[in-house]
Amino acid sequence: MLALVERLYPICRSLTGDGVRETLSILGEHVSMEVHEVPTGTPVLDWTVPREWQIRDAWVEGPDGKRVVDFAESNLHVMGYSTPVRARMPLAELREHLHTLPDHPDWIPYRTSYWKEAWGFCLAHRVLEALPEGDYEVCIDSSLEEGHLTYGELFLPGEKEDEVLIHTHVCHPSLANDNLSGIAVAIRLAERLGERRHRYGYRFLFVPGMIGPITWLARNEAVLPRIRHGLVLALLGGPGRFVYKRSRRGDADVDRVAAHVLGQTAEVRDFEPYGYDERQYCSPGFDLPMGRLTRAPHGEFAEYHTSADNLSLVRPERLEASLDAVEAIFVGLEGDGVYLNRSPKGEPQLGRRGLYGSLGGGTEGRQRERALLWVLSLSDGTHSLLDVAERSGLPFPAVREAAEALLEHDLLSGAS
Ligand code: ZN
Repeated sequence: MLALVERLYPICRSLTGDGVRETLSILGEHVSMEVHEVPTGTPVLDWTVPREWQIRDAWVEGPDGKRVVDFAESNLHVMGYSTPVRARMPLAELREHLHTLPDHPDWIPYRTSYWKEAWGFCLAHRVLEALPEGDYEVCIDSSLEEGHLTYGELFLPGEKEDEVLIHTHVCHPSLANDNLSGIAVAIRLAERLGERRHRYGYRFLFVPGMIGPITWLARNEAVLPRIRHGLVLALLGGPGRFVYKRSRRGDADVDRVAAHVLGQTAEVRDFEPYGYDERQYCSPGFDLPMGRLTRAPHGEFAEYHTSADNLSLVRPERLEASLDAVEAIFVGLEGDGVYLNRSPKGEPQLGRRGLYGSLGGGTEGRQRERALLWVLSLSDGTHSLLDVAERSGLPFPAVREAAEALLEHDLLSGAS
């Protein structure tokens, strides 16, 4: 995952443009995804697909002719969606287009102006403070033209029609945790799911933020009734413990499973209509059961949206633990079900069937026996295995394993 983050890091992505295309084409080396191109001007819900932005070069030259800001050194230097400009101006005029972080004078901020025409540069505050008075030469070699919005979609069919939707955004330039960590975890998850059987179909979206899900939702209303669970993935390689944000519904299966399997490793927060792209999926007209998994969320770590969100912020062990957490959620969703105890009058003789007491009473044996008894006790056709796990406090995999053993011995049957 870290290798993928490193490879994608230098690319200048934005809402639209060749940076997104290049990113999706690299992802296409790992998984076979479909790339969609939606023309500029296409109406999507209450929005319109914007013009395509391309950026070739951008720089500022000081009065002595030396470059003081250069896009070639960091793609964060140019404000995303900057209109083209070629001009000479005094420092006072230029300053209105310069963005810095006085609190972190060595970091370059990440700024965009998607929906209002503007141009700008982002730079270290220390550099700004050292700029002498005089005339500056400014160049942004960009274009904003009719083109397309590009996004990637990958579908792994399951045994059922029902689907799980997994979203990650692909619109940030050289920022490692905010953007690339989510992409890397999603790709690795898709690769792992591709190697095994699963009940649900898994649909992965690699789309630009906000306008991406809006565009996808506008074009895929027919798919929505099949979506049973979903997750927005972002910020999974940086600092902080897990933060799970509930769907708008608040009690969707994904909300309950995530809270249960992540347990003490996560802080669980309620939905609010602010944040990442869950805003669109959970808008009242869709109200999809989409939660969000991050580590420290946007705005809650100092490096957020700055040049300090770089490759050294993302750690392989954090990516790995994030992937495990996402997988544990899907293992829970895959393994859940409602069953019927076929011998509900008195306890069935588990010992006779080799299910009880055979492990010699160690901690593991006791947990296994408790799981068997809990599954038998609650499997009356109205409680799911998730109910069993929640009420018993047993880990979901132990509950699932007990159900498998009981099914094998005909003590349990599926309740439909
Ligand atoms: Zn962001």
